Amino acid sequence: MTPGAEVTRPDTAGYDQAWEGVLRSRERGRLAHAYLIAGAPRGAALRLAESMIQILYCTADSPPCGVCSPCVRVAELAHPDVHRVEPKSKSRQIRVEDLREQVLTPISRTAYEGGWKAGLILSAECLHPAAQNKFLKTLEEPPDNTLLILIAERPGALLSTIRSRCQLLKPSGGGCVEADPRAASLADLLEAYPPSNPLEAEGLASRVCDLLDEAAAEAEAEVEREIGAEGEEPDRKEVEARIRTRTIEARNAVLAELISWVRDLWTLTVAGDCACLHFGGRREALARGASRLTPSTALHHLRTLERMSERLARLARRDRLIFEHTMRELSGGG
Ligand SMILES: [Zn+2]
Repeated sequence: MTPGAEVTRPDTAGYDQAWEGVLRSRERGRLAHAYLIAGAPRGAALRLAESMIQILYCTADSPPCGVCSPCVRVAELAHPDVHRVEPKSKSRQIRVEDLREQVLTPISRTAYEGGWKAGLILSAECLHPAAQNKFLKTLEEPPDNTLLILIAERPGALLSTIRSRCQLLKPSGGGCVEADPRAASLADLLEAYPPSNPLEAEGLASRVCDLLDEAAAEAEAEVEREIGAEGEEPDRKEVEARIRTRTIEARNAVLAELISWVRDLWTLTVAGDCACLHFGGRREALARGASRLTPSTALHHLRTLERMSERLARLARRDRLIFEHTMRELSGGG
């Protein structure tokens, strides 16, 4: 750095490591097309998202400067190529129509100013399941020159396929945000991954399925408590729909953690080590697992489990047979 140079650092307090990583990727011209920021939709996570969007448009030498016209317009929500959506206050949901009108359709068009387009989804865990599926399609075939950023307090509530297609940015201090309360118990089980024979595979499948059931049961109880607290005569149909949504979310959260574990294994087989592991606190166990996989088998595991999660998400109920079958297959005993 030039001595005496005035450097205006954007305020990314709380996400310094994530921010440094983003800047390094940008310098190498390797910005991911989608990021998932774990955090509240206000405050530090939102500032990080804004700074990331500003670096796309900033005209200063070391962006973002925060003071040039594009930077100011991003901060004031007045940039024509930045599109955002958040839950309507009452329903706390992001409906598929809102997602489409406010983000997906605008980013599929040519940018007004001929450059980048950015899509920002606040409280992404509030995306209705249909909206998540719609968004997944965009993630799989993103329009050119587009940066997508999701902010979610509970990233685990998103479809595992969305999670695995976004780069996760966590607050500094790593690992202190557990996306799901069950992540730790799941990680304990996964220390034995990959299973080395069909028997181990079945045992692992069965214990993970127990966790899925537990998550679903707790989600159901939580909805019942909320209904009780609201004190009105509940509309049973609505209650059932809410339970259904919430149990799916809870199960998907567990599945998302499973995918993250296997994604970490794959990352380790490819890169040797990486600062961006989801389960960074379990490096040793992950390294043991990774040593038993090649990059291509690890990728095969990742893809197989993603497909399995999609099937389980659609079924919206436990399905031990699918789980056990998949695990057996991956253990080489299919
Ligand atoms: Zn600027």
